[in-house]
Amino acid sequence: MTILEFHEALKNKKTSARETVISYLDKIKKENKKLNAYLEVFEKDALERAKEIDEKIASGEEPGELWGVPLAIKDNILIRGKIASAASKILGNYVASYDAFVIKKLQKAGAIFLGRTNMDEFAMGSSTENSAYGPTKNPRDMSRVPGGSSGGSAAAVAGGLAMAALGSDTGGSIRQPAAFCEVVGLKPTYGAVSRSGLIAMASSLDQIGPIAQTVEDAEILFNAISGKDEMDSTSVLKKSSGAAAKVKTIGIPKEYFGEGLDAGIKKSIDAIIKKLSQKYEIKEISLPRTADALSCYYIIMPAEVSSNMARYDGVRYGARENGEDLVETYKKSRGEGLGLEVRRRVLLGTYVLSAGYYDAYYSKAQRVRALVAEDFKKAFAGVDLILAPTVPTSPFKIGEKINDPMAMYLSDIYTIPANLAGVPALTLPSGAQLIAPHFEERRLFEAGKFLEQ
Ligand code: GLN
Repeated sequence: MTILEFHEALKNKKTSARETVISYLDKIKKENKKLNAYLEVFEKDALERAKEIDEKIASGEEPGELWGVPLAIKDNILIRGKIASAASKILGNYVASYDAFVIKKLQKAGAIFLGRTNMDEFAMGSSTENSAYGPTKNPRDMSRVPGGSSGGSAAAVAGGLAMAALGSDTGGSIRQPAAFCEVVGLKPTYGAVSRSGLIAMASSLDQIGPIAQTVEDAEILFNAISGKDEMDSTSVLKKSSGAAAKVKTIGIPKEYFGEGLDAGIKKSIDAIIKKLSQKYEIKEISLPRTADALSCYYIIMPAEVSSNMARYDGVRYGARENGEDLVETYKKSRGEGLGLEVRRRVLLGTYVLSAGYYDAYYSKAQRVRALVAEDFKKAFAGVDLILAPTVPTSPFKIGEKINDPMAMYLSDIYTIPANLAGVPALTLPSGAQLIAPHFEERRLFEAGKFLEQ
């Protein structure tokens, strides 16, 4: 059932929260061993919450849209009293001392958390193979990766182990796994959703967003989690919603259809364009800086990663490996606690920020980032939305790219520009990605729903 269908069923007493939660817990018990989508299941809490919801309904209260909705939560989003490990060894026993803003919002709205889901360590990766707790498999084909870094959340939704989920997207981590698992994924506008309680990867890029079965469900969740939060100074007041989005023209950026795009994917995107042309005017457009976005991201992101990762020193957080002195304790704790990809990025980041190289790399990348954003601004002067593929290839085999970081990074070539520019983007089960101007999520939902019909 989708969120909307479940809500109807709950209202009409065709099902209960408890019955629904139990059916998900059963499915998880049966299938999570092979899928490895969940790192931990909150069975007791989920059943208790469901009981509360059912009691409220029995006492005559009208259920809200998210009452009893069983959700999977990515392991980098804090739930008070629960472990939040970001799939890292170094945070293996870290228990969150407060709720993320989005968790508070969802709890208030009556949602139920089924468990925390697997991911690439600290959200660094595109396949969920960089988890310290084993890879997640793609429920559509168990020999393939589910994408990453929110692979556990996408696999849980695609496999029917959650009604919907939360992920985070810094360079594609919601959209790329949504495309690989054939579900819906939304990266909101930077600032639309508070990052308070999200374990930071690259703070100027990170956004929390929904992974769902339908566009409508993604919209319901987005409306529930967005809004201004005092704890995140980059979050902003929600823009007025409800008014019609009025999408007329959709731009197709020619740079997204060049070399490297798999022929099968091109064909399915062409079919989407054809469908869109029944309702919207289609225009070819150019985003000339697309090719520079990936290299720009792989300077800015590791720079911010190296800064954010400094707190994991074995003293303030996480597992400690004692050495002879303080520096040795740091080295041992970080060397033991952090995986290869995380260490690679910390090294890259400290390098590009170091005195001799700051101008050559970091400052230059910041200027390129501004140009990428400028591309979108210019394009949106002539079109209301942009349509592009989310990924250049279909899901690859587990193990196929793990020893080739460059091949892995190329998986994000079409998702990263939206993060650099801060604009919202919605991936559909077909693998198509709609991109809108800042805070115009409702345009995404409008065209997304049209495509879903
Ligand atoms: N796959 C990209 C990376 O490895 C994006 C990660 C993300 O969005 N968290 O950096």
